[in-house]
Amino acid sequence: MNDEQLQALVERLSMQFFEKPFKHTAIFNSRLRTTGGRYLLVSHNIQINRKYYEEFGENELIGIIKHELCHYHLHLEGKGYQHRDKDFRHLLKKVDAPRFCTPLSKVAKPDSKIVYVYACERCNTLYRRKKKVNLNKYVCGKCRGELKLLKKLSDF
Ligand SMILES: [Zn+2]
Ligand SMILES: [Zn+2]
Repeated sequence: MNDEQLQALVERLSMQFFEKPFKHTAIFNSRLRTTGGRYLLVSHNIQINRKYYEEFGENELIGIIKHELCHYHLHLEGKGYQHRDKDFRHLLKKVDAPRFCTPLSKVAKPDSKIVYVYACERCNTLYRRKKKVNLNKYVCGKCRGELKLLKKLSDF
């Protein structure tokens, strides 16, 4: 799905569920990390995290768009558009939009599956660690030689 298709989908969902047009811009933003989407108060644009679509599919994407459209329409109408506002919670329920997005495992914890490989500079023993090691504190368990970071592996 590209930005034009996303724009068309947002416009269609806006008419279908809110019976009001979406007159601004919707784009994918790959820099969003732990959130599925974002509504920008100044430009009125909607940004969507493409990774949610790739990982969870179109239903999740539609849920995110409906959630962001709740912010959008309420804000433009001068109503309570924030998560804690009654207007917002009512509208979420009315259009059956999720209150929160499904957490993205990979994106939420980017370091969880990374493995660091260290090597002893003296005896070449390899060590795999899930976290970065403080090289000022830790030395080789066999010969007490200095360790150096050999590489950072990603397990997925
Ligand atoms: Zn929100
Ligand atoms: Zn060693």
